[in-house]
Amino acid sequence: MTPNIRPLVAGNWKMNGLRDSLAEIKAICEGVEEPHFERIDTLICPPATLVYVATALAENCALHIGGQDCHSQESGAFTGDVSAAMLADCLASYCIVGHSERRTLHGEDDLTVRAKAEAAIAAGLTAIICIGETEDERRAGKTLDVLRSQLSGSVPETATAANTVIAYEPVWAIGTGLTPTTEDIAAAHAFMRQALTMRLADEAQAMRLLYGGSVKPGNAGELMAIENVDGALVGGASLKAEDFLAICEAYR
Ligand code: PGA
Repeated sequence: MTPNIRPLVAGNWKMNGLRDSLAEIKAICEGVEEPHFERIDTLICPPATLVYVATALAENCALHIGGQDCHSQESGAFTGDVSAAMLADCLASYCIVGHSERRTLHGEDDLTVRAKAEAAIAAGLTAIICIGETEDERRAGKTLDVLRSQLSGSVPETATAANTVIAYEPVWAIGTGLTPTTEDIAAAHAFMRQALTMRLADEAQAMRLLYGGSVKPGNAGELMAIENVDGALVGGASLKAEDFLAICEAYR
């Protein structure tokens, strides 16, 4: 945690969730209304098909709803894509960009991710920009080099503490049950804070730096205690309200 930074616990449902799953959104809404959650922000990013109905369900509760990706253009001939303006029109307030699954499976590079982050910010959303090294890069001792180049390539000049969140997600830790050591996460987050400060000065001091990759109720407390870890980006364990709320408990 960083003193004076309000933690964010964000759930990324990926391509999981049919209408039945709205019951989980409802349960999370009820859970986060508990007074002890006042000190943290909570967010669920369901598939695009559920965003509008999820924002309606969460209208009177503290839970934020976001998108998992957006196009860099506002509208046009881009079959199958969703723009940041459309997510904002559905009352979403955040959008994940540059998730490793988008970078790997859809060939998104830093330039694309940066354009998407700019589009999200321009639409009034908070962009959650994901970065992280692969297993091979880690083995080669290149983790900090990768983070440096992804930060400088993916984070727009317009980034502020209010409109941008950075999520450090080692690719090899996503969905595997593996996590880096506490020391490695602390080193990565300290490095990100320093690299961002060189570009964004004071804004970087207040920017939320999330850790993502196999976050579970069982390890959330330990992760949250690490310096410069200002919340979590949670995949699998965000699909059930009970697990997501248990993770939130660690960050409150
Ligand atoms: P995981 O996914 O929590 O299932 O490892 C994290 C993510 O991909 O954001």
